[in-house]
Amino acid sequence: MDTSELIASDLKTIWHPCTQMKDHEKLPIIPIKRGKGVYLYDFDGNAYIDCVSSWWVNLFGHSNDYINAKLKEQIDTLEHVIFAGFTHEGIIRLSNRLVGLTPKGLEKCFYADNGSSCVEVALKMSYHAHLLDGKKRPKFLSLSNAYHGETIGALSVGAVGLYKNTYEEILIECLQTPVPKDNADIPNALKALEIILDTEGKNIAAFILEPLIQCAGNMHIYSAEYVLKASRMCQERGIYVIFDEIAVGFGRSGSLFAYEQCDITPDFLCLSKGLSGGYMPLSVVMTSDEVYEKFYAPYEAHKAFLHSHSYTGNALACACANAVLDIFESQDVIAKNKIFSHKIVALMEELKEFKFISNFRYQGMVFAFDLVGFPQGRRVGLEIFEKGLKKGLLLRPLGNTIYLMPPYTITLEEVAYIIDSLKVILKQIQY
Ligand SMILES: *Cc1c(COP(=O)(O)O)cnc(C)c1O
Repeated sequence: MDTSELIASDLKTIWHPCTQMKDHEKLPIIPIKRGKGVYLYDFDGNAYIDCVSSWWVNLFGHSNDYINAKLKEQIDTLEHVIFAGFTHEGIIRLSNRLVGLTPKGLEKCFYADNGSSCVEVALKMSYHAHLLDGKKRPKFLSLSNAYHGETIGALSVGAVGLYKNTYEEILIECLQTPVPKDNADIPNALKALEIILDTEGKNIAAFILEPLIQCAGNMHIYSAEYVLKASRMCQERGIYVIFDEIAVGFGRSGSLFAYEQCDITPDFLCLSKGLSGGYMPLSVVMTSDEVYEKFYAPYEAHKAFLHSHSYTGNALACACANAVLDIFESQDVIAKNKIFSHKIVALMEELKEFKFISNFRYQGMVFAFDLVGFPQGRRVGLEIFEKGLKKGLLLRPLGNTIYLMPPYTITLEEVAYIIDSLKVILKQIQY
């Protein structure tokens, strides 16, 4: 099949995620034939730099030689095994490594198979843990502008109207406290939180937040100081703190995990996306021995956490995750990224000449700016997406927020090409 046949055949049978399918009448979907490093190649030989790490999952490039080799090794040994009553070497090794990388208080790993489902696990587990202590705490607290996934529970603790509003009536009721707009806003945000905690604190099972960066919330970066103080306020009142590091974990925030910069250990840590390097669906909730012990009892006591997903702990995904940790160990990725991040920022500074660019920001390996002053309803982000494709860039703006979240293996030359292309593209934008 050639490209146009593939497109027609795709649209005949496939409904794509997070897409108004009618957009594809004008905007052709792009069949990708293969990937290597930061590049994706279509069937006509065009190359696209994956500036968004294919929805933030890829860390070390597409078709990474090392991860490929580890995956191939695994597939000839064990592809998958039921994870209740059975286990395998890969996941034991992975869990020991994750526990070794995280502080005291995160010593147990509960697996699921995607980000949303691990958020569901953390919500259910935190509620259940209180219940086992004889406390009914039926509510969850989250931040304004939060995103935690698309399943009913995860959507309920989220706050991005675009995804949530339609389903409001069928969602569970949650409390929301404002995320600080900027550092000057931290006292206000903490005050608002205190008021909620004073009135509702005893009903709240857990406070869930994306530490440092609300990615789907237009790459809103906020301070470690707030994360620390807000988390402490909750923990002091017996409310569990869930850090959703699905997007910011594994080096995105500038440290291996964002909580390191916030000086606090959450009661539950949700990881997915980069966990398998962008290869296979896998997620994990890490929690404490203390929480684990509450559930540990004779079967007849009905205290078990009876939650499962068919593909929990998939062996192929675990092989990828172990390969990812090997790369972190052998290549000092975090230290390299720290230097690299500043170089990327220096290049991006040049974009500030455009008067419609505002709120330039970055944290670790996430870089973003907003396009402002355009008439309501104009999809200027989409215009940039289309122009980007012609330049060989896969950008997927969030509304009018343009961001780069590239694989860590991108070179400075490739970043320079992205910035030069963005300059050309932004010059073409009629303001
Ligand atoms: C992507 C994401 C999720 C949901 O993960 P899925 O695998 O897409 O279900 C949850 N929380 C955050 C912060 C995310 O970025």
